[in-house]
Amino acid sequence: MLEPSTPVQYVKGIGPRLAEVLAAKDIATVDDLLHYLPFRYEDRLNPRSVAELRAGEMATVIAEVRNSGLFRTRRMPIFQLTVGQGRTRLKCIWFNAAYLQDRFQAGQMVALYGKVEEDRDGQLQIMQPQFEILGDINEEGGADEAEKKAAASLEIGRIVPIYESTGQGKLTPRWFRRIIRWTLDNLSPDLPDPIPAAVRAHLSLVSPRQALSKVHWPDAGESFTDLQSSRTSAHIRLIFDELFFIELGLELKRREQKAQTGIAFQLNDGVRAAIKKILPFHPTAAQKRVLKEIATDMQTPCPMRRLLQGDVGSGKTIVAFQAAIIAIENGYQVALMAPTEILAQQHYFSARQILERAGYRIVLLTGSLEPDRKRDVRRHIAQGNAQLVIGTHALIQDRVEFEKLGLVVVDEQHRFGVMQRLKLMKKSDDRGATGVSPVKPGGDARRSTEPKPTEPEPDVLVMTATPIPRTLALTLYGDLDISVLDELPPGRTPVVTRSLPDERAPEVWDFVRKQIGAGHQAYVVYPVIEENEERELKAAQQMHRQLREKIFPNLHVGLLHGRLDADEKEHVMREFQQGKIEILVATTVIEVGVDVPNATVMVIEHADRFGLAQLHQLRGRIGRGAAKSYCVLMRGGKVSEEGERRLDAMVRTSDGFQIAELDLELRGPGEFFGTKQAGIPSFRVANIIRDRQLLEAAKREAAFVISGPNPEISKEEIDRALKQMRSRWALTYGLVEVG
Ligand code: ADP
Ligand code: MG
Repeated sequence: MLEPSTPVQYVKGIGPRLAEVLAAKDIATVDDLLHYLPFRYEDRLNPRSVAELRAGEMATVIAEVRNSGLFRTRRMPIFQLTVGQGRTRLKCIWFNAAYLQDRFQAGQMVALYGKVEEDRDGQLQIMQPQFEILGDINEEGGADEAEKKAAASLEIGRIVPIYESTGQGKLTPRWFRRIIRWTLDNLSPDLPDPIPAAVRAHLSLVSPRQALSKVHWPDAGESFTDLQSSRTSAHIRLIFDELFFIELGLELKRREQKAQTGIAFQLNDGVRAAIKKILPFHPTAAQKRVLKEIATDMQTPCPMRRLLQGDVGSGKTIVAFQAAIIAIENGYQVALMAPTEILAQQHYFSARQILERAGYRIVLLTGSLEPDRKRDVRRHIAQGNAQLVIGTHALIQDRVEFEKLGLVVVDEQHRFGVMQRLKLMKKSDDRGATGVSPVKPGGDARRSTEPKPTEPEPDVLVMTATPIPRTLALTLYGDLDISVLDELPPGRTPVVTRSLPDERAPEVWDFVRKQIGAGHQAYVVYPVIEENEERELKAAQQMHRQLREKIFPNLHVGLLHGRLDADEKEHVMREFQQGKIEILVATTVIEVGVDVPNATVMVIEHADRFGLAQLHQLRGRIGRGAAKSYCVLMRGGKVSEEGERRLDAMVRTSDGFQIAELDLELRGPGEFFGTKQAGIPSFRVANIIRDRQLLEAAKREAAFVISGPNPEISKEEIDRALKQMRSRWALTYGLVEVG
């Protein structure tokens, strides 16, 4: 009998070599294999008859091979197959398909899937259909008659699962069908159900065993629409399962955090006056509301865990500074972490402008500091001289000792990702938020002998510009409270955005020249730093030279990209901030957080090569002052259809939420959140966009389970669920532990 945890190599027909191929697909165990779901199904129980087909639809047809042949046209070889049912005929065409030449024999039954079209004579045909020769398992080599029969029974006369082939196509849909079928047949009959009975009842969930069987081999009566949209009871069970244990972990995390001792900051008149004093402008209503939410958290004795979400340019920084003042005025230190060195430096500049004037002591801690200087800065921090410490995330996390840390602000969290956040929070449980340990100065000997008094947990404020729809935010960031800055500072006029072909570059450069003549500055953005990184793409370095020497010989043109060393970056950024550089040629290093309100033009070359979220972030660098701003999206060469849609969206709207939704649609959630880097759990079966409602149900049920034993749910059930949650989390999030 196979157990879910059995390594796949023990499944009949796999073995060590194929196990390696599967491992690359994250299929290591029987459980993984069974969660490799069909991406579509074919109705081979009631396949369409050829006579019923209509042009324009996607259809599965089962028919008999009549004849086939290869035609060589001047351009390419075309393979044509004619199949029939009785007297009706259907033509199938494949381009460039000499390899199909000897594939079909008259009399074979084939299943075909593809889009039905009309040819020039009004005859129906399917272009490039996917096909399977039924009963033919020779493609996998030496199968005996019995096996052939068994395989045939899996692919005809029923709803048939279609899997994505993998391993350079060696592992065909048919191969998966056979292997998964065998696995199911040999799977231990009683899989324990870790979801408490009450929860199962709330959602009418089927058993795990049944879900796994039916998701691969649906009953004949199953709704085809439900199958294709992953809404059968089998799908729902598997999806809910996956989401439920994630939410259970988040919910537990949230409770643990709430239970810890934090700092109850005082918010008296003195502190209020100090907050007001630094404001260089009138805060927006949204900024006031959000500050109030933060201040309320800070006053309560449990540690704040709050996410501040606000579109680019909505003014998060000043809110963070105000929160910092509350902590500092209470005698605590504040750490402000940025994802890039450029951004850390920029925060440092504005903090000095806004806060240093008011007498606060600020230090910048970056990787590029000389070792001596770094040691000095660290000492200032450990002794409590530095009140606000600004740095990159990596640096501050790297065991900086604070004298009395009260607040940690993490800026542009989407760059860190959920995974890192979870790790940060984990560290904060080990003493000291975000791996930063509050330690008394002077390395006093008492510390080793005396039991350490429990230090209060610092407050944590996480800021992000990623416009995640609220329901998703609530569920994905289930361990955080959420504040939203939903208003832009006054006087912003929407950025005028145009999409232009490369040929019109001269006009664009003229326009840039005019804007600079009027006292403004411009960005010109490229997708790559150097030529040959990707052929045919203009690159920042080369274009910088050309723009400086040929196009704008009388202007100051700077260059900024990720490979400059930190000093150079800082120098260039400062010159741009001070207006000494008029045109900044850059890569996407400027995407996050850069704030130079005098810059009113952004030209993005090869704009179709950027992701939507990225374009939105980039465009967020302009339109930050009172002057009208312009974003020009240049496109050269052939633009993909998806590229066109992205450009259209950018021209049409500047609403971050709309852009996010479209981006999600175009790329899917994995890409949208940058699953791989961001450490969003990469779900095996769930899709957090499609499955929003299940996600919310999972969150609700998780809260119910955690609320403790009650007549509906026993302690044993809760323990079993928590145990399962822990092992899932260990798998999904690697080292992060909860509970
Ligand atoms: P983000 O939310 O993208 O981090 P910033 O905090 O960098 O935005 O703010 C964007 C710009 O708007 C900055 O130049 C900032 O000084 C300015 N700003 C912020 N709040 C206000 C306000 N209430 N009134 C006027 N300008 C503001
Ligand atoms: Mg910012």
